[in-house]
Formats: sequence, structure tokens, C-alpha cells
Amino acid sequence: MAGETIHGHRFFIGFGGKGANQCVQAARMGAKTAMVCKVGRDVFGNDYIQNFKNNDISTGNSQTVLHWENAIVIVAVNAKVLVCQLEINPDTSLQALRMARENHVKTICNPAPAIADLCSDFYKVFDVFCCNESEAELLTGLSVTSVEDASQVGLELLNKGCGSVIVTLGPQGCVVCQSRNMAPKHIPTTAVTAADTTGAGDSFIGALAFYMAHYPTMPLEEMARRANLVAAMSVQTVGTQTSFPFQKDLPTELK
Ligand code: ATP
Repeated sequence: MAGETIHGHRFFIGFGGKGANQCVQAARMGAKTAMVCKVGRDVFGNDYIQNFKNNDISTGNSQTVLHWENAIVIVAVNAKVLVCQLEINPDTSLQALRMARENHVKTICNPAPAIADLCSDFYKVFDVFCCNESEAELLTGLSVTSVEDASQVGLELLNKGCGSVIVTLGPQGCVVCQSRNMAPKHIPTTAVTAADTTGAGDSFIGALAFYMAHYPTMPLEEMARRANLVAAMSVQTVGTQTSFPFQKDLPTELK
């Protein structure tokens, strides 16, 4: 009830933001990463930037600001992969994705948090569109409760203009759709005892970005298979970034 005092049993603050989480996972796997963002000029902002530094993430393009305003994103021409989410103004993400494309940088779009009326141009400017079941539902209006449903929404997203689509399905792994001429492929994951699945999607995308950058000719299905296994490691420990594996924790076949 409002106004009632209740006893909590556990209190935990962790770093987050989808983009930050994804960047941390990629960095921990050994990717050279940079985070482009704005943070408040306060103690939280300082700690937030320090956390990137602790994870060997470049923060040269991150700003500390008093007031939020539209940002112009600069895509370094020597970058291999750009990952965008919808946590900032979608127009800014769209512009960054376009600039990346023009500079032959591979792009991953994670439409989170999903918005139902995403501009139709958005679907045409990236290499991989990676979403979870609820995001896929909101974007297509189709319900996703099974591998078959995920395959259907994947095809629907390809119809909207996506290059490739990955729909993540929690303990069921993911579905990869690469073209209308290829059958969607279900990539199951390993069965694990999940302690906390928060951030599993970010671990998956961070790992995917790492594989795209380090193994550019690897088939997308193999990258998704490996990303499944990295994310499965993350769900076995409590916390979000705290649960993301480092390169040293990975079996050789996932490095
Ligand atoms: P979050 O919003 O918590 O970051 P999400 O809903 O975006 O997660 P999911 O589809 O739940 O993402 O999970 C992403 C990936 O993590 C899955 O494709 C799978 O590889 C892995 N995963 C998630 N839950 C489990 C689980 N219980 N066991 C094994 N792997 C899991």
C-alpha cells in the first residue's frame, strides 16, 4: 500500500543501459570498443564513465552534460561494427546507422525499447536486426510464443527491408532469418540452470558484435550459435554486467 513501510531483503545497484551492457560484453570478450553517449555531470555520471574505463572501453566520444540535447554521432571510419539501440532519439540512431553504412561499417540494430511506429527507413539501414520476442511482437503486431512464431516475425521483418534478422527466444536460443529464399533457422542453446536472466539479450548482442568484428566471414548462424552460448554463461550468475563472461572465462571454441 502507498505509504506503507516494508522490509526489503536485498538491494543492488548495477550499471546498465542496453548500449553500455552490450559494449561491456563485447569488450570483455576482447573487442576494441568505444561508447558514444552522454551522461549527467554528477556522481552517477562519473561512476558510469569510470565503469567503461574499468572495462577498457574508450570514452573519448562520450560527453558529460548538464542538459540533454540532440547529439550528432560520429562513426569512426576504422570501426568494424556499430551497435545501435532505441534508448536515444531514433533519428540519431538512424543517422549513425546511415553513416556507418556509408563507411562500410557493419551494423547491428537492437530495437529496444521497441516503439510500434518505428519509421520504415529504419528497417533498411543495418546488416543485422536483433530483437527479443516482445520487441518482435510490438514491431510486427504478431504474437511470438514459439520457434514457429519467431520464424514468421523474422520473415515479416525481412519484408520490411531488414538485411538479416535474429529473434532471441530466452532458453530456446534464437531464430536466424537471412533472406526470403532461405528457411528461417532455429539455433537452440544449451540447457543451464538460470540464476538471473536479466541482461541476457545484451550479453547475446555484445557477443554477436565481437564475432562480427573479429570473424567477418563467419556465417551469421555460427555467430548466433556462439552468442547463444556466451549469453547462457551470463544467465548462470546474478546481476547484469557482473554476470557477463570475460575472454578468460570462455572455452577456446567461443574465443
Ligand atoms: P533481457 O531483456 O533480460 O536482456 P532479452 O529478453 O532481450 O533479455 P532473451 O531472448 O531472454 O533476451 O535472451 C537472450 C539470449 O540469452 C537467448 O537467445 C539465449 O541465447 C540466452 N538465454 C536467455 N535465457 C536463457 C536461459 N534460461 N538458458 C540459456 N540461455 C538463455
